[in-house]
Amino acid sequence: MIIILFFIGHWYISLFFQTFFLHRYTSHRMFKMNSFWEKTFFFLTFLVQGSSFLQPAAYGAMHRRHHSFSDTKKDPHSPVWSNNIFSFMWGTFKEYRNLSTQFINDDSKSSDLPRWKSIEILGESMIVRLLFIIFYSSFYWIYAPSAWFFILIPFHIFMGPIHGFIVNWFGHKNGYRNHPELLDNSKNTLPVDLLMMGELYQNNHHKSPNKPKFSHRWFELDLGYLIIQILNTLKVIRLV
Ligand SMILES: [Zn+2]
Ligand SMILES: [Zn+2]
Repeated sequence: MIIILFFIGHWYISLFFQTFFLHRYTSHRMFKMNSFWEKTFFFLTFLVQGSSFLQPAAYGAMHRRHHSFSDTKKDPHSPVWSNNIFSFMWGTFKEYRNLSTQFINDDSKSSDLPRWKSIEILGESMIVRLLFIIFYSSFYWIYAPSAWFFILIPFHIFMGPIHGFIVNWFGHKNGYRNHPELLDNSKNTLPVDLLMMGELYQNNHHKSPNKPKFSHRWFELDLGYLIIQILNTLKVIRLV
């Protein structure tokens, strides 16, 4: 039971920081927050993504290219130009690695992407990634009722990229379109997106990339936006 809670908890908490901090805040600037909260969410993103930490600036730069060139050859992660899952993930990984190396070697403050160099270096270090892997494995070693549960460990290790894969692969391949006039291949994969906190409304999101609410029809549910509304009411963030 504790293993299932650990898995579900890690899935949704990691997903929340990806959709809230990396995607909607860092990449799209859909709301504002002061530097105290920015640092807090930056640090928590590192902590919950752990071994698969994605540097916010590199994520933001890559994601902005995804919107500028959606599903064209210049799109860093479009399933339209990949024959299979592995070439798709490998292409995304190479693009991310180039950008993250560039950002770590570049101290310029000109960009509007959130930076915290010590956490970026810490999060990208192989030793720290390895320590997180040891932590996940030890947790399973202690609490898993049988060795079958060990097959879940890779999901914890690659949590961030797995979420990115689900959104960018299925969200640009399978589903329905509320906005058929869009020239890209974006889709709304699930009518009620309980799995990815609203991220699977890619067709809606590509129609209005700067709107914090991803659901457009009465039956669509954007859990990420619900939390954003709560944080806005609590004055942690300010919707723009
Ligand atoms: Zn997209
Ligand atoms: Zn986006």
